[in-house]
Amino acid sequence: MNTYYDYLLVGAGPAAAAAASAIREKDTQGQILMLGAEPETPYQRPPLSKGLWLGKDAESDLPLKSASDWASLGVEMALGDPVITLDPQHREVKTLAGKRYDYGKALLAMGGRPKPLAAVPELLRDRVLSLRSLADYRRLRARAAEGGEVLVVGGGFLGAELAATLSQQGALKIHYCVSGDGPLAQMLPPMLVEKVSARYRSAGVDMEKQRKLMEIRAQDGRLAAVFADGHPVVCDWMVYGIGMEPNNALADTAGLQKGQGAVAVDAQMRSSDPHIWVAGDLATYPDPVWGSPLRLEHWDNAEATGRIAGLNMAGETVAFRHQSMFYSDIYEFGFEAVGECRSDMVGHTECSPDGDQAIVYYLRDHQLRGVLLWNVWGKVKAARTLIAAKRRVEPDALRGLLKDW
Ligand SMILES: Cc1cc2nc3c(=O)[nH]c(=O)nc-3n(C[C@H](O)[C@H](O)[C@H](O)COP(=O)(O)OP(=O)(O)OC[C@H]3O[C@@H](n4cnc5c(N)ncnc54)[C@H](O)[C@@H]3O)c2cc1C
Repeated sequence: MNTYYDYLLVGAGPAAAAAASAIREKDTQGQILMLGAEPETPYQRPPLSKGLWLGKDAESDLPLKSASDWASLGVEMALGDPVITLDPQHREVKTLAGKRYDYGKALLAMGGRPKPLAAVPELLRDRVLSLRSLADYRRLRARAAEGGEVLVVGGGFLGAELAATLSQQGALKIHYCVSGDGPLAQMLPPMLVEKVSARYRSAGVDMEKQRKLMEIRAQDGRLAAVFADGHPVVCDWMVYGIGMEPNNALADTAGLQKGQGAVAVDAQMRSSDPHIWVAGDLATYPDPVWGSPLRLEHWDNAEATGRIAGLNMAGETVAFRHQSMFYSDIYEFGFEAVGECRSDMVGHTECSPDGDQAIVYYLRDHQLRGVLLWNVWGKVKAARTLIAAKRRVEPDALRGLLKDW
């Protein structure tokens, strides 16, 4: 027999957690159930590639709330059992273990999974790792404890963070290969890419750009990664971060409208089905400033969209107005950014006299679209205001706008 819940939250990450708390703020009575594929209650992912390795965080710091806090909030959990079907007509979901639930309103917040590498030989599967979950982190940690030579692949956030983190683990020799012009080169201006690249080299990382991975094969009991230039890197194991794929399967079978490769929602985070809301990495929503479809894969976005979805599920009618920020840490460099930050949009970069801090302004059609704050803190709000003004700007007019060095 099916069990009925007023609110069924599929996915137990930060977006679902924020939605659950927001629902409870508005509806103290409704029955809430959170369904998660992982055995953990919602936890922080950012430390998996940073703080946990560097002694800044412990695994016990990761949960967003304790199991007893969720229970006191009246949020029931069914974990370690993924939802495998969603029937929007009958408002019913079914899990892998065969449990069936009916719902009044549902949230889809299943996030995504690492984009896979093409063809990894079966023999090498346990030596080619990726990182999304706590279980992945534990696998990686066990490998890293064995020492050896490691290849890190990926020029985005995850690859850049992992190469930096692993290079600080002592017993590992790191090869770091990116297919583009350097670490984070799709976002940073060349001057900062060079600064970061130099930092990897000073940490003893063998960093190489323009290296496109073509094949992975076994060689003399080790792993050989073959690149487009024909030169292999031979190592003991490798870890890659080449992007994320949204977990679309349930939305696809339910026939929900898509956008930008994920699930399209309106400004209230409601999907094309009136009883289903979507949040976090899985949601494509109208950009609060520009109105164009936007999908982000960042922590702040997950919490903020989850909260708005939850409020609206509980009967509010609030539009999403938040300009999400994102952040990363690589060695002693830390940055926060808002808006669209693509290196081909850099309009102006300003550096502190000692070169340790920078502000990057990104322009499109003479409008400020994004701001990246490199080792500059407390300016996110001001950056949001500048972007939201949607004024016509010339690069010269950006000098000293956020900081006068
Ligand atoms: C290693 C790492 C480091 C990161 N660092 C940063 C950072 O420094 N800054 C930043 O801004 N962002 C960072 N992020 C990104 C950020 O963590 C994500 O954007 C955020 O977690 C997305 O939240 P979400 O709730 O949408 O999805 P997720 O956090 O992915 O949670 C979704 C949950 O749903 C579960 N699920 C999936 N399918 C099903 C199913 N069928 N049934 C039930 N449950 C299901 C998943 O197992 C998962 O637990 C990082 C991500 C990773 C992996």
